Amino acid sequence: VPSRGMGTLQHAMSRTHLPTVCVIGAGIAGASTAYALAQAGWRVRVLDALAGPAGGASGANGAQLSYQYVEPLATPAALGHLPLWLMRSGSPVRWRPQARWSHAAWLARFVAACQPHCVRQTTGELLALAEHSRQVLHGWLQQNPPWRDELGWRAAGKLVLYRQAAQRKAAQRQLALQQAFGARQQCVDTTECLAIEPALHGGPPPAFGVWTPGEEVIDAARLTRALLQASQAQCLWMHDVRGARGSGDQLRAVTGVDAHGQGFECAADAFVLAPGAGAAVLGRALGLALPVEPIKGYSVSLPLRDAARAPSVSVTDTDRKMVFARLSQAGEPDRLRIAGFADIVGHDLQVAPERIQALIQAAHAVFAGACDDDDAQPWAGLRPATPTGRPLLGATRWNNLWLNTGHGALGLTLAAGCAQRLAQALQRPAPRGERVAIASRPVVPQ
Ligand SMILES: Cc1cc2nc3c(=O)[nH]c(=O)nc-3n(C[C@H](O)[C@H](O)[C@H](O)COP(=O)(O)OP(=O)(O)OC[C@H]3O[C@@H](n4cnc5c(N)ncnc54)[C@H](O)[C@@H]3O)c2cc1C
Repeated sequence: VPSRGMGTLQHAMSRTHLPTVCVIGAGIAGASTAYALAQAGWRVRVLDALAGPAGGASGANGAQLSYQYVEPLATPAALGHLPLWLMRSGSPVRWRPQARWSHAAWLARFVAACQPHCVRQTTGELLALAEHSRQVLHGWLQQNPPWRDELGWRAAGKLVLYRQAAQRKAAQRQLALQQAFGARQQCVDTTECLAIEPALHGGPPPAFGVWTPGEEVIDAARLTRALLQASQAQCLWMHDVRGARGSGDQLRAVTGVDAHGQGFECAADAFVLAPGAGAAVLGRALGLALPVEPIKGYSVSLPLRDAARAPSVSVTDTDRKMVFARLSQAGEPDRLRIAGFADIVGHDLQVAPERIQALIQAAHAVFAGACDDDDAQPWAGLRPATPTGRPLLGATRWNNLWLNTGHGALGLTLAAGCAQRLAQALQRPAPRGERVAIASRPVVPQ
């Protein structure tokens, strides 16, 4: 029952026999959760602090369904490069120290996660989860045939470029690790790179590459909107969730402030937190310590001047730490999206012009003559990153509150699989705090 002075969102839904779930967050994680739960027979309500879907990290991200390139950010190599990256201006990684205990604790856990055995375990778990996610998303695309064209889905394949021959041994080691977990990828020489992606003739030839034919692309924002619409969820925009009301181990309602500054309360049978980079703050309000740190990245989408000079396959330039994806959507001219950078600077969403300029320059350097800059669409988003790179998926100390967040740099890739696993878990609730099994191994709240 809503408390006095508060607007109430007590559902019409509760009049029916269907159980109701309230999903907090309308990014790709929340929208996928809404769709999977609607299919499992739940009535879904989605709350978001912003004015519409995909207003956070699921906006103009790199568009990669990166099923076989799941190496976490925390690796021994990343730890080794970090001092150089932090000192060099224009480096792909920036760090602004923050006077927060949770920030220091996250960094300490990140460093611990750089150990080889941890990277191996995470890589195996994420590969299994990503493969599951591919199958779930393909099922969803089959259920909704127009989506392939409307959402720009393509099995484009991904070519990862290396500029120095000396990097080959390390790349082959990573390949061997991923192949041991079933990934299908191969090392290719310069000539093969140019044959796979002829548009690379427009820039400096790579030393070698790694080719993964099974990788895909899709527009994250469009997929988010399509999933919400298909789930028939009731979406409440500008509803900022700030707390909750419960009794015993049962959450009764989440509470917050709406667009008019009025308090609201939303009751449901179950709740799922999918607030992206807002997870740590919201978690704290609900008594949960969620190790999620925002890692800012940028993208720019450019119109094509000469389609033949733009890549058809997705390309990652390891030196620049940037991805290039061609977005082809029904009824729209193709665009090239370039994404990259990892700035650990807190909840700062300012679009730094020098970062955007660097992305545009990279597009001209790697694919000369392919793009125009006059209608450039710049963007910044916050990756919700856990120290290990494993998402937080599963139950909490409240027996009807669940997590689906912390997907870091792989939220688009993992969204369908995580949502489906969570929907299964809600059908058969596990004991409190228990992990949700992801394929062969659990991926967990840490
Ligand atoms: C530059 C860049 C490139 C990327 N490229 C790729 C890629 O190629 N492939 C890939 O798989 N992943 C990629 N990612 C990562 C991916 O975009 C994210 O992991 C994913 O979008 C996270 O989705 P989400 O739904 O968890 O968070 P979001 O999309 O950020 O959604 C969270 C939502 O929760 C809402 N919210 C938060 N707190 C509250 C609250 N208290 N009350 C109400 N609402 C709240 C927010 O308003 C937001 O709308 C990239 C990220 C960036 C930044």
